[in-house]
Amino acid sequence: MPIDISALSEAVLWVVTFLGAFLAALWFSLVLWTFRDMRARSRDALAQVMAALVVAVLTLPGLLIYLILRPPKTLAEQYEQSLEEEALLQEIEERRICPGCTRQVEEAWQICPNCLTRLKNPCIECGKLIDLAWTVCPYCATAQPQPVEAAHETPEFMPTETPGDSDAEREPDPVQTSAEPATDDEEPPKPE
Ligand SMILES: [Zn+2]
Ligand SMILES: [Zn+2]
Repeated sequence: MPIDISALSEAVLWVVTFLGAFLAALWFSLVLWTFRDMRARSRDALAQVMAALVVAVLTLPGLLIYLILRPPKTLAEQYEQSLEEEALLQEIEERRICPGCTRQVEEAWQICPNCLTRLKNPCIECGKLIDLAWTVCPYCATAQPQPVEAAHETPEFMPTETPGDSDAEREPDPVQTSAEPATDDEEPPKPE
């Protein structure tokens, strides 16, 4: 049997060497990947080293343990989520609420349909809806007449606010003038 023992052993040695090198490279890659993955998920340097150590010592089972225990989200994902939450919160805050009944109202509403509280006024010049507290239209820079709104709300006070006329009418009161001669008649006659 002319089997070359030395050539066979050399081939086996090559295969074993190749396999060993591959496994070593795989092990190193796994440890490096774990370290990088943990670094993307946590700023804690100790946690990064510990995760890499677990994979380095336990290899594939260690990687399995790491995949189970690692933080579910990367730092970038956490940041993104916090941004989204912040944006959502801001949106909720910006949602308008009726000051009269605290119900949600639309941005374009002039009046609350539930309690009839006036929410906005149209600009006297351009007609765009502006806040009640604003004294000038931000769209066309026209000054808004604030007292007009107050007068509309309390129209019953308008007739009484004419003191000049009422005072003038009181002087020549027909009831008082007619009562004066009556009192004169009832007076006892003056002695002469
Ligand atoms: Zn309301
Ligand atoms: Zn305007």
